Amino acid sequence: YFISFEGGEGSGKSTQAAMLGETLREEGYDVLETREPGGSPGGKIVREVLLGGHAAEKGPLAEACLLTSARREHVDLVIKPALASNQVVVCDRYADSTRIYQGYVGGLLPETIDQLEAIATDDLMPEVTYVLDVDADVSKTRRKARLSTKDDGDDRFEKEDQSFHDKVSEGFRWLCDTFPKRCILIDGAGKPNTVALTIRDSLRLRGLV
Ligand code: C5P
Repeated sequence: YFISFEGGEGSGKSTQAAMLGETLREEGYDVLETREPGGSPGGKIVREVLLGGHAAEKGPLAEACLLTSARREHVDLVIKPALASNQVVVCDRYADSTRIYQGYVGGLLPETIDQLEAIATDDLMPEVTYVLDVDADVSKTRRKARLSTKDDGDDRFEKEDQSFHDKVSEGFRWLCDTFPKRCILIDGAGKPNTVALTIRDSLRLRGLV
C-alpha cells in the first residue's frame, strides 16, 4: 500500500508519518518511509535548489517542473520497486504538495498541475492521503519552535508570512473536499499519540493495513 501525508509547516505531518511507519513496523509490516522532495538522489538536489541557503525565487512553473522531475525519479527508483516487493510505502509529501504550493497558492492552473502530475506520478497515486490540519496559532507556535532546530537550511519558514501559511491550510482543506475518497482531513492539534491513534484507526476502517 501507498500512504502519503500532507499538510502545511507545523501541522505535524512528518511526526505522524514517522509514527505510523514505526507502528506498522511493530505490527510486522515491511515499511518504507520516504519523503518529497528528497527521497531520491535527484530529489535531494532539487530540495537543496528549492529550499537551500541559495534558493532564489524561481516562479511556480519552474518549481513545479523541478519537483516533477524529482517526483518521477522517486516513483521509478524508490516507490514502485518498494510496492513491487510488498512494502508499505509511507511518504511525507507527494504530488498533492505541488497541487497546493505551486497550484492553489502559486497560481498554476489546474490543467497544468494535472499534466505535470500525470508525468510525475505515472498515474500512481496513494491509496490514502492523510492531510494534517491545525489552526493558525498552533502552526505559528510550532513553526517558531522549529526555527531553532531545523536541519536542512529550509528558509521558507522565515520568508513566508502568515497569509501564505493561511492560504496553504485553506488549500489543503480544499484538497480534501475535492478528492474526498482519497484525502482525509485530520485534526493535528492534539497530542501526537492521540493523532496517531486516529490515523491508525482510520487505516483499519478502510481495510488497508
Ligand atoms: O515537508 P517539508 O517541511 O520538508 O517541506 C519543506 C518545504 O518545501 C515547505 O516549507 C514547503 O514550503 C516547500 N514545498 C514547496 N512545494 C512543494 C513541496 C514543498 O514549496 N511542492
